[in-house]
Order: sequence, then C-alpha cells, then structure tokens
Amino acid sequence: MSLNNILLDNLLNMVDAIIAVSLLLLALASMLKQGYKKEINRLFAAFSCFMSIWLMAFDFGDNIWFTQQVASIITGISCASGFITLIFLMLFILKLVSYKKLDVLAWRSLWLLWPITAVSATPLVAGVAVISDDGKYYNFTYGPLEWLYAAGILFTVGVIAYGVIYGLSHAKGMQKHQLKATGIGLLISIPPTVLFALLLPLLTDNIWWTNFGTAPILILVISLYFGVVRYHLFDIRAAAVRTLAYVLSLAALVAIYYVLAIVISSLFSGVTVAGQSPLDVILTIGLLFIFQPIKKFFDRLTNSIFYHDFYKSDEFFARLNNLFTSTTDLRNLLERTAGEIATTLKSEQAFFFVHTGKDHYVTAGTARHQQLPPEDALFIQSIYGKKPEVIVASMLDEDNPIRRLMISHRIEIILTLVQADVIGYLCLGDHRTSHYTNRDAKVLLTAADGLVVAVKNALSIQEIKNINVATTQQHIDAATKELRISNALLQHIDSEKDEFVSVASHELRTPMTVIRGYISLLEREQLGPLDDGQKAMLGKMGANTKILIDLVNNMLDLSKIESGSIDITLTDNLLDDLIDQAFKDTIDLYNTKGVKLTYKGPKVMVSTDTTKFERIMFNLLNNAYKFTDAGGKVSVTSVVDDAKQLVTICVADTGIGVAEEAKAGLFRKFSQVDNYLERQSGGSGLGLAICKGLVEKLDGKIWLESTIGVGSKFIFTMPMSDNKQTK
Ligand code: ADP
Repeated sequence: MSLNNILLDNLLNMVDAIIAVSLLLLALASMLKQGYKKEINRLFAAFSCFMSIWLMAFDFGDNIWFTQQVASIITGISCASGFITLIFLMLFILKLVSYKKLDVLAWRSLWLLWPITAVSATPLVAGVAVISDDGKYYNFTYGPLEWLYAAGILFTVGVIAYGVIYGLSHAKGMQKHQLKATGIGLLISIPPTVLFALLLPLLTDNIWWTNFGTAPILILVISLYFGVVRYHLFDIRAAAVRTLAYVLSLAALVAIYYVLAIVISSLFSGVTVAGQSPLDVILTIGLLFIFQPIKKFFDRLTNSIFYHDFYKSDEFFARLNNLFTSTTDLRNLLERTAGEIATTLKSEQAFFFVHTGKDHYVTAGTARHQQLPPEDALFIQSIYGKKPEVIVASMLDEDNPIRRLMISHRIEIILTLVQADVIGYLCLGDHRTSHYTNRDAKVLLTAADGLVVAVKNALSIQEIKNINVATTQQHIDAATKELRISNALLQHIDSEKDEFVSVASHELRTPMTVIRGYISLLEREQLGPLDDGQKAMLGKMGANTKILIDLVNNMLDLSKIESGSIDITLTDNLLDDLIDQAFKDTIDLYNTKGVKLTYKGPKVMVSTDTTKFERIMFNLLNNAYKFTDAGGKVSVTSVVDDAKQLVTICVADTGIGVAEEAKAGLFRKFSQVDNYLERQSGGSGLGLAICKGLVEKLDGKIWLESTIGVGSKFIFTMPMSDNKQTK
C-alpha cells in the first residue's frame, strides 16, 4: 500500500466515524422528549444504530491484528448489518411516505428478508477472510449465496426508490418537504454505495472498491439533519442544529488535516505525516487553534440556513402593544393585529373571530382569510372555554373532531381569547415555510392577555358608538372616566416630579452655601489682597450665587407647600408688628432705589404663622419694589371685615402694572411676564406661587388688581384671631 493509499484509507475511516457519531446523536435525540413513542422515530433510531455498526465493521474488520476467525465473524456482521440498515431505512421511508399498500408489502417481505440477513452473516454470503498478498490486511470474498444477498438488497433499494418517487409525487406540505430532503440525500448516496460496496466488488472480484462504499452516506446524513431541522422530521431542531455545526466543523478539520498531510508528505518525500512524526504534532496543534473560528463559521452558516425565520419576541410584543394603543376601532384593530401576527409567525392566514354580543360576532384578518362558522366556534367553546389556550391541529389525535374542524378551515393553530368568558379566537393557517414551534405557541399565549384587553377595550368603545341617544351619557361617562384616569396619572407624575425637585434642591443647597461662604471670604480679602477686576468678578459671582440659592430655596419651599409637608404654627399676633418686621427686611432696598414705602391700618390681631406671613409680605414687597421705578410709591393698607372675621391686606404700588391677559396665570409656578424689568431683576417666577400656597395654608385668599402703566394691588386675607384684644 502506498503512502497516499494509507492516508486515503485513514481519511475514509475518519469520515465513516463522523457519519456514525452524527447518526447516533441524531437517533438519540429523536428518542428524547417521548420521541420513542413514535414508530417513525424508533425505525430511524434502528436504522442509525445498524448503519453505525455496519460502518465500523466495514472499516475495521480488515485489520490484521484480528485472528482470521474473528475477521470472518466481523465480515459476517458487516454483511448482515448493512442489509438490516437498508431494511430499516425502507420501513422508515415508507412510514414517512405513508403509502399504505407498499408499507404492507414491505412488512410482509420481511418474512423473506430476515432469513436472508441471517444467512448473510454466515460464510455462505460473507465468505471467509483471507490475508492479503502483502500480508498487511484481510481480503474478503463473498460466499456462494452472494446472489441471494444481492437480490435482497436490490429489492429493498427498489422499494425505497419507489417509495420516495411515489411520495414526492403524492405528498403535500410539510411531508413533501421532509421527503424531498431525505429523498435527495438517498438518491445521491445510495447508488454509489451500492455500486462500490456491492456491485463493483462482485463484478470485478476486487474488494478494493469497497473502500469508497461508505463515504457517500455522509450526504444522506446531512440531508437527514436538514429534514429534521428545517422540516421538523423529529422535534429536535435546536439540538440537531448545534450537532450539525459541530459535525461539519470536525469534518472540515479532518479534511484540512489530510489535505495538508498529503501536501507535506509529497513535498518532503519520506516524511510520513499521518503517524507520530513531529510534523504531525505541529499540524494537530495548528488545527486545534483554528477549530474555534471554524466552529463559529459553521454556527453562523447553520443559523442562517435554519433560523432565518427567527424573530425576537420582545420586539414582537412591542409592535403588538403599539398596535393595541394606536386604534380603538375593532375591525381595524383585528385586521392589523392579524396582519402583524401572520407576518411574524409566517402564517398563511390569520383571522379573529370575536363575539360582539349574543349571537353576534365579527371576523376580521389577513386578506382572503377563511371563516369560522359560528356553530363551529360554539363547538370549540364547549371544549376549550376556561382559560387562554393554544390548540394545535397536528398535535390533536387524528379522530379528534376539533382537529377535523380545524383542518377543514385550513387552520393549524387556534388561540382562545378568554377573560372570565370566551370573547373570541385567533386562528392561524399553516406555517408558510415550515412548522410552528413550541416557542411560537408560548409567544402567542403570552400575547393573549394583551390581546384580550385590547379587544375588550375596542368592543366597549364600539358599543358606545352603536347605541345612539341613550349612549350620549355613557359617552360622557367614558370620557369623564378617561379624563379622571389621565388626571390621576398627571397628578402622580407631578408628585414624582415634586419629589425629585425637593431632593435635588436639598442636594444643591449645601454646595451653593459653601460656594457663597468662600466667595465672601475672598471678597473680604481674608485670603489675600485683590485687584479691582477680581473684586468685580467676585461681586458678580456672589450675586449670581445668591440668585441660585434663592431659587433653590424657593423650589424647596414650594415643593414642601405642594406636598403638604410644610409645618404651620398658628399664633396670635398684632398685624402692625408683622408688617413692621417685613418693612425692616426690605426698607434698605426701597431707600436705595428711592421708592416710598408706607403702612396704614387698624390695630388688629391675626391668627397666623409669623415666619410664613413675613415670607408672603417679603415676596410682595420685593416685587412691588422691583416693578416700581424710582420716585414711585408702595403703600400697604389693611381693612378689617368683622362680619367675616377677616383682615384684608393690600400691597399697592405705582409700578408698571400687569396686563389683563397675564393676570390669571401669575400665581402659577414659573410664570413671568416678559418685560425689561423682569429680565433685569432675574426672578424665578416662584415668588407669587409661594405666596398663594402660603396664604391658602393660612386659611386666606390672594388676588390681584392691576392697571397697566398705573400700578398693581396684591391683596390677601388673613383670619382674625379669636382673641381680639390688642396687646
Ligand atoms: P419673580 O421671582 O419672577 O418675581 P413672582 O412669582 O414673584 O416671580 O412674579 C411673577 C411675575 O409677576 C413677575 O415676573 C412679574 O412679571 C409679575 N409681577 C409680580 N409682581 C408684580 C408687580 N408688583 N407689578 C408688576 N408685575 C408684577
């Protein structure tokens, strides 16, 4: 045997080992998940096991370290297992084709075929192993009954071929796809196998041909995997895809190894690579490094072939939710949802059957969808009416009436839409390219809740639309209800925002105060002398920091007022004292600007919180001063209303005034009238909102009277104290 022959022999043996392992894995997987209960799976597993036995016996039986007797027994095993493999393949294919007559014939022919397999294990067919001329391996010769064996094999192959051809012309849908995948594999692999393993050795009396008899089966294995994964020959898709990627990677590695080995050994003649030479070790290590990239490549390849109909469930749900909220028109909702589901799940058709009232229903779905007659819907309801459920036609027993009903309407899946009662069904037609998966069913079931809510919503709105006069009130009710809901939602958002503002302001106040402290340290030149430019800059920094701190304080106060967490301590106070205190805080400002500030009012006791009252007065006086030009006048007056037990306090200025249209919004947060004074003074628009909040907390009211260009009056009331005695 030449070196290249040894290499070739090794390569072929490797291929056979890969075939055997992948077949056994596939057989094992087909037994899982209760697969062993199905006859077709059992036939396939038997086929795979005998195929593996045959391959091993075929490849290793000629090893010279067996005694002649053992080698002969192995030959017998090889002949018999080869034949049994074909028999199981025949039964498997006929199950797949479901051609009853041929199936019966095949099972009957077993009476003849089994005896032939028994005989084929003996020297009568398998012959006796003889050591080859060069003494390196065993040669096999067929025995005297070889023709019987050949006839049996040709018969079996004939039945398989006929079964495949019949199936391809008669089968439909998924079955046809499965058959195509398996049939093409068979057509490519069986003829060369029969030719090399049986006919050529018989005709030429040269056993060397058998070396090539097994490799073509790799194609059959790949096509079987294809059938499994793409067309659900068995329900083991994921496992099969991964195994296939693995097997392909191994096969690629083996191929690379041998190509390199042949190249190297022909370049450096005399170096045998496929042995124990150092080159072999280097080659092997090199291959180890490229295994991962190769595996990745085949992973991607197999994914793109088998999972191209894959979809992301979260994105699907998001699209559905968008649909649910985009329309309340029932028909529109049903049609668009059916379209989305049919596109994503690759359904030939999708439609809804929805009860709209007693004996009333709506059907809507993809173009030219089928119908579900009401009596059929009632029938389904009598069986599946309790909880949301996915009914798959092909999973039901053959004699199940629901299955027959579904098939007659070309429905493969029904999703029941249930909320207390059945409100309807979503019906899906056959899968366009392959088969629905368990995942599809789970996704549908998850979507069911949202579907029910959306359909119910659309139904109730339709009801409102349908009934005329009587429904006007309902209409209003529904609208009011919706408004109330959105109002509650807004309030919730508002309170969340307030909380945020309050937390953020707290966090801001501390660093701002620290900054202001350092600025004043610098300004007082306690950290070293400053030039005029630096002083001016610090002055601006100080002023702006103050604005920021005021803003933060205002925001904090307002959020406290709004959340109701502000503490109010009511005490009896002489109004004069309170006003005096407020004047003290602002009088310097007034004097500097040249605005006159006066107070006039009776001596009266008010029941109030002193700091809060001062805050109100401070804000009002501050505004009056801001919006009054030099030379103007701000007069504070108070009037007692004994009947109402109220004191009315008015802060009147001779400033710019407020335009009529701006008045209403002035007490709202962040409202400012855009004017040049405002821009100069840099307020925040919170002062009046705080005033309003505080006045109301103190059981008073606040309002504004103003004429543009003449002046403004900010007026508020405070309750008088029960103790009317002035101190
Ligand atoms: P700001 O901090 O901006 O002064 P306020 O809530 O105290 O915020 O005032 C809101 C707006 O009301 C001011 O921007 C101003 O346009 C207007 N305003 C308040 N008081 C007076 C006033 N006495 N005269 C004219 N406009 C006023």
